[in-house]
Amino acid sequence: MVDHTTVLIAGAGPAGLVLGNLLQAQGIGTLVVERASREQVQTRARAGFLGPNTARILTEHGLAAGMLHKGRSHGVCAFRGEDGEFELDYSTLGRGEVHTVYPQQDLVTDLVAEYLDRGGEIRFGSTVTDVDASTATIRYRDERGDGVATGRFLAGCDGGNGVTRQAVPGPRLTQDHGVSWLAVLAEAPQSMAAVTYAVHDDGFAGHMARSPGVTRYYLQVPPGDDPGEWTEERIWAALDTRMRTEEFGQLKKGPIVERRIVRLRSEVLDPIQHARLFLVGDAASSISPSAAKGANLAIMEAELLASALISALRHDDERPLAAYSRTCLPRIWRAQEFSRWMIDLLHPQDDDFHRALRRARLHSLRDSRAHQDFFAEHYVGI
Ligand SMILES: Cc1cc2nc3c(=O)[nH]c(=O)nc-3n(C[C@H](O)[C@H](O)[C@H](O)COP(=O)(O)OP(=O)(O)OC[C@H]3O[C@@H](n4cnc5c(N)ncnc54)[C@H](O)[C@@H]3O)c2cc1C
Repeated sequence: MVDHTTVLIAGAGPAGLVLGNLLQAQGIGTLVVERASREQVQTRARAGFLGPNTARILTEHGLAAGMLHKGRSHGVCAFRGEDGEFELDYSTLGRGEVHTVYPQQDLVTDLVAEYLDRGGEIRFGSTVTDVDASTATIRYRDERGDGVATGRFLAGCDGGNGVTRQAVPGPRLTQDHGVSWLAVLAEAPQSMAAVTYAVHDDGFAGHMARSPGVTRYYLQVPPGDDPGEWTEERIWAALDTRMRTEEFGQLKKGPIVERRIVRLRSEVLDPIQHARLFLVGDAASSISPSAAKGANLAIMEAELLASALISALRHDDERPLAAYSRTCLPRIWRAQEFSRWMIDLLHPQDDDFHRALRRARLHSLRDSRAHQDFFAEHYVGI
């Protein structure tokens, strides 16, 4: 049997779920095919910092109840290095905007519930195995066997390791930034009020709030390290050293409930569309988490694609769809550029010359209002 819908969506992450919700709200039929179980997608802890454009999209489209109820406004970050610590109150810099801290798994849980309420259908546990962009057809496999689904349009929202991106011909611009992080979740309250970035000769360390009882930490580790080699004691000892806790106060410690290696990589497809297939989020471009842009880009692109599909399906105007890549790519590249800027700022360099340059950039960020405004605008915006 072949399932048919208007817009077929591969992947139930932030990209696919925002897109599905916006289309269902307009009475446009959608079907989401998702490899993982509902439980898995609703417990995958990843992003947490939502920018103001994301908050606007969620609010305007009736998807923000959970974020408004449980999310926390965040407008200060701190930098620690060999010259001490300074804070930037970015809510008073640049455009005066802030982040909302709301864990991605909570957002995904809200989006799944709302999408189902709007009459959408998700096939959990169904893996897309093959894609035909010219007919907007996918083949998928689930516990019942093989299936086929078609749509008038197909949205590839199946992340950086998905299948749909393989059906888009064209160049892939990739960059391995040569840095790996151990991403850790600790069942512990945040230790500092602000996001804190620590630059140390041993490597970068980061502290980010997630929810009142859970904090994310990052530790730069040698590429190829095995997360299993990082015991709780070793993690807290490295964080103490790099966060200079003897000088700035102890960390609030607790059990480490997740540790994974994240290799800082970027990949941008150009174009991000082919025939009836349109890529959204990590499927279109992967970005290192150094500037917390991935989920924000995914949700921005989902809104743009929803609006273009509504023009095509409701007003018989396919021009916004034809321009989808051209509209998204400059924004993707600005996010990539700032993400790379953050990598250069936060990581120690092997040679003295580059070490001195990095230190000078931190001094400039500490002392120059113009530099701070640049940082604030790019840190929260896309
Ligand atoms: C440690 C970490 C911290 C991060 N912090 C931030 C942050 O603070 N702010 C931020 O903006 N971003 C952050 N990100 C990035 C962010 O999590 C991603 O950019 C975001 O999840 C992208 O959303 P997406 O919907 O495009 O893809 P995904 O969330 O990856 O969703 C893709 C979905 O497709 C499904 N899928 C994959 N293959 C198939 C298949 N063959 N068939 C069917 N389904 C399939 C997957 O199971 C998944 O559910 C972070 C990432 C990491 C790893």
